Amino acid sequence: MRKIIVVALGGNAIKQADEKGTVEEQRRNVAITCRQLVSMLKYGHRVVVTHGNGPQAGNLLIQQEAGVAEVPAQPMDIVGAMTQGQIGYMFQQTLQNMLWQERMPLPVISVINQVLVSEDDPDYKDPSKPVGPFYTEEEAETIKKERPEYIIKEVKPKNVEKRFRRVVPSPDPIRNIEYLAIRKLLDDGIVVIASGGGGVPVVYEKDGTLRGTAAVIDKDKAGERLAVTVGADFFMVLTDINAAKINFGTPEERDVRCVTLSEMKKLYDAGHFKAGSMGPKVLACMRFIEWGGQCSIITSLDHAIDALLGKAGTRVIPDRVCE
Ligand code: ADP
Ligand code: MG
Repeated sequence: MRKIIVVALGGNAIKQADEKGTVEEQRRNVAITCRQLVSMLKYGHRVVVTHGNGPQAGNLLIQQEAGVAEVPAQPMDIVGAMTQGQIGYMFQQTLQNMLWQERMPLPVISVINQVLVSEDDPDYKDPSKPVGPFYTEEEAETIKKERPEYIIKEVKPKNVEKRFRRVVPSPDPIRNIEYLAIRKLLDDGIVVIASGGGGVPVVYEKDGTLRGTAAVIDKDKAGERLAVTVGADFFMVLTDINAAKINFGTPEERDVRCVTLSEMKKLYDAGHFKAGSMGPKVLACMRFIEWGGQCSIITSLDHAIDALLGKAGTRVIPDRVCE
């Protein structure tokens, strides 16, 4: 059963919630994640990896602002590309080392990706995604004057001093710009790391040229676009929880196991999955099946292999497939 699998890795694959994000912590987490990816490769699957960049981009934006007296700060699209290099490098090197130890001579490459979005996307009218450092009210006023293009919102209650933060749009991804290159790499048996952090959001100018924008694309939604691009069989979202749940956080909480697309649609429409976390994962999984994918999976890192074998996690399958 040799499959093409797109694996979307959550924040915990690189940095645990209670960690600062030191290089040692990140390398340790990346190694645990890569062990699972190597297991998939050992089964003969062809794997394309994508990952989030929230904490890394956040830290980099803080560094950019802190150092602004010495060197110019870089805009968000550049910061996004920087984190793709940073995280891609860690996964690339760790995978190469593990594959060498396993005597599996598979080439590994990470690709800097741009993902097309539309400035007509409704999220551009009312940006929702907080990024970068928190500010006091005074700092927020100064920033607004210095950078009139920034939208600053109050994101914490009044009793918190540093409660203001920059917000940017989180538009729907339309297409991975480098899709042809990724497909060729995969066809040549290369393990690809792509669309990191949801990709750098870009728009087309009227003359057909590309321009980076200050926005953030949800990495699970962009991962689904990547899965379609490479004609994946499976789209797998690995996060910090074993399955998507109904009645999450209540005594009636239950795992969603294997459901058809229309069964999942009903659960999604009933509001079981929170916006900004499980919601986009479920949405991305449904979109992949709507496109024609064989199976979408949501599970935790340690259940990845069992989920591929149908023994764990949440799985979404097309309506006409009976099990
Ligand atoms: P990632 O970094 O992997 O994208 P997120 O924090 O965005 O992780 O999403 C995973 C989180 O979604 C879980 O830790 C859980 O707290 C939350 N969540 C919200 N609704 C649900 C649900 N219905 N079932 C399971 N988890 C849920
Ligand atoms: Mg998330």
